[in-house]
Amino acid sequence: MTPHTLSAAAIKAAAAAEGFSACGISPAAPMDAEHAERLRQWVANGHHAQMDYLVRHMDLRLDPRLLTEGAQTIVSVALNYYNDWPTATPEAGRYAFARYARGRDYHDVVRERLEAMMHRLGLVPHTDGRACCDTAPLDERYWAARSGLGWCGRNGQLIIPGAGSYFFLGELILNHPADTYDHPIASHCGTCRRCLDACPTAALAGDGTLDARRCLSYLTIEHRGDLPQGTAPAMGGCIYGCDRCAEACPWNSHARPTAVPDFHPSPALAAMTPAAWQALTIEQYRRLFKGSAVKRAKYEGLLRNIRAVGGDAAPLDAAPLDDKRLDEAPLDAPPLGDAAC
Ligand code: SF4
Ligand code: SF4
Repeated sequence: MTPHTLSAAAIKAAAAAEGFSACGISPAAPMDAEHAERLRQWVANGHHAQMDYLVRHMDLRLDPRLLTEGAQTIVSVALNYYNDWPTATPEAGRYAFARYARGRDYHDVVRERLEAMMHRLGLVPHTDGRACCDTAPLDERYWAARSGLGWCGRNGQLIIPGAGSYFFLGELILNHPADTYDHPIASHCGTCRRCLDACPTAALAGDGTLDARRCLSYLTIEHRGDLPQGTAPAMGGCIYGCDRCAEACPWNSHARPTAVPDFHPSPALAAMTPAAWQALTIEQYRRLFKGSAVKRAKYEGLLRNIRAVGGDAAPLDAAPLDDKRLDEAPLDAPPLGDAAC
């Protein structure tokens, strides 16, 4: 494989042809000093909960050239997953469910399209570079922001101007330079604080960082064992993840339903009632979530969440979450993903 200069226009055309809504290109280089320090501080503050791999692979995270030998270019892409299945509540006859998790496992869908992009460009996966989608120690939001796809909002999510944040991010780490690179854009959060006001657990610091120990997305998906006291009342009828800081963001008023059929809920999932969830068996769970990222929570974890929302669990303290009880909770889960950008 001899490095040769790739056309940025051709890369973006290939991304569009594979259905990606946005594409930006950066030279592969170490993370800049400001963001590297923020990431180190985030870990030092314990905001990564028990995500020990963040500490273990910090060197790779800070410099993607260590991740892929010969890396010269990082291509960031965004794939719309928004589906307008109603944000359900028990009162409406349904439990809520994080939007990103209602369809097929995004790791597979995004990686397939990234590899198809490489083929369109005449590149060979694993020889000319690699495709990543939440599958490598790479700070996806940092690279997407650096490539000008959007900015990191106060809710810690990558916000694409005129489109919002309901996007999966993916990357190609390529062993070739590009003829043009993109640049970051300014934040358009302005004086808005809607996401902070909407968060039921005060997990957002206001500067784009997240305390994973307090975040319902972390607690209901990654966390193993009992939920910390006070979690159930904060869940608000959502049995998997949490979308409240995204739903509150005014930029998401631009969201349009995805054209990717894989990201729409299956008829079986859409038909689930609270009573059906409460009676969920392991066999039904396997059928319902075959090929889905929800498997990450495991049956026991999902059942724990269902019972918490249904008030059927061991008694949970109805008081707001507080630091002491969360700090004492056994947080031994693997990472949800990077939370600092
Ligand atoms: S996902 Fe939910 S709990 Fe986590 S920061 Fe956003 S609103 Fe707060
Ligand atoms: S809700 Fe407001 S402050 Fe939060 S990410 Fe969106 S624009 Fe930024």
